[in-house]
Amino acid sequence: MDISIFEGVRTPFYYYDRELLERTLDTIDACTAGTPMRMHYAVKANSDPGVMRIIAGRGYGADCVSGNEIDLAVECGFDPQKIYYAGVGKTDEEILKGLRHGIGCFNIESMEEIDILKELAAKEGRKATVALRVNPNIDAHTHEYITTGLKENKFGIDLRMLEEAVRRVRASESLDLGGLHFHIGSQITISEPFKILCERINELKTRFRLDGVEFRFFNVGGGLGIDYDNPDENPIPDFRTYFDTILSNLDLDEGQEVHCELGRAIVGQCGSLISRVVLVKQGLEKSFVIVDAGMSDLLRPALYGAHHKIDNLSAAIGSEMKTYDVVGPICESSDVFGKGETLPATKRGDLIAFRSAGAYGSAMASRYNMRDLPGSLIK
Ligand SMILES: *Cc1c(COP(=O)(O)O)cnc(C)c1O
Repeated sequence: MDISIFEGVRTPFYYYDRELLERTLDTIDACTAGTPMRMHYAVKANSDPGVMRIIAGRGYGADCVSGNEIDLAVECGFDPQKIYYAGVGKTDEEILKGLRHGIGCFNIESMEEIDILKELAAKEGRKATVALRVNPNIDAHTHEYITTGLKENKFGIDLRMLEEAVRRVRASESLDLGGLHFHIGSQITISEPFKILCERINELKTRFRLDGVEFRFFNVGGGLGIDYDNPDENPIPDFRTYFDTILSNLDLDEGQEVHCELGRAIVGQCGSLISRVVLVKQGLEKSFVIVDAGMSDLLRPALYGAHHKIDNLSAAIGSEMKTYDVVGPICESSDVFGKGETLPATKRGDLIAFRSAGAYGSAMASRYNMRDLPGSLIK
């Protein structure tokens, strides 16, 4: 990597590889052209305005989970008609914001929310398109904190309550039932859960047809994972297999669309957290590389035990390899990026990259320890 592009940039900061992001989007476009698949970017994965503008420029929709995300998506050029709003606890203020922007869909997560949205939309003199988020009870075989489709989960409407939910939406003057929404988890790297999801959708479609309900779309959510261990070998996820799995297993009618809300798979690999080595501390048995980035900049290791590949960008090729624990400066024992990492001999001032950090990296940054938020560079 040519690190001269980082000269003069204050560390730590997120670097986004524009060329890789564009290639990733090209790949998605090539896989979905001429299909009934419509892409919505999951804004919560990365809400950097520069990144968002590039994605909006492709004509994607946006999947938002807060009122502020809706405002930002509009500012960054997403068409309000293609903005979808999901979340288990939308406040009245946020719902009104969505209604006033004229967003394309509210993804409803409970019976209670149907009644709340119905009333607010009626009061505003608007008709809101809704999708019912169904909890399909599928184990996505991913981390317990990022699996969302199991029965005892807070997300979505239980399958057994769905008939009543459909009836309630259809009976309302201010609501229009557009489709069904699903999201079974994140960082899913096998096809099987997506295949099972499609089978569930087909069953629901058949069942509701008996009541004369025709859905205009099925939203399969996001969740496609990336290769955190080998970002250089696999910079672009296997979109071909993913979209083929969905399109070949879903039984769609003429005119019916599939909506997809990828986050991580779009932005994950294009981002790295760039940090500088503050000092290398020699302990009695271990050496610590202490960097100027911490869990306030990249929370995933502390939150999920996640590992980001670590590169020393300053080391000369052929340097002697050594073993280090790579840690941040924050006063928490969980502020660790890697234990027993094999890196080229590392010294004060070296630039370190934490790879595959484009998703749920800057988006989860905080000011813990009163630190500055990480900067951002798109090149
Ligand atoms: C988080 C989320 C997504 C995106 O998930 P990824 O794993 O980043 O693709 C999509 N839809 C909903 C409803 C979400 O909450």
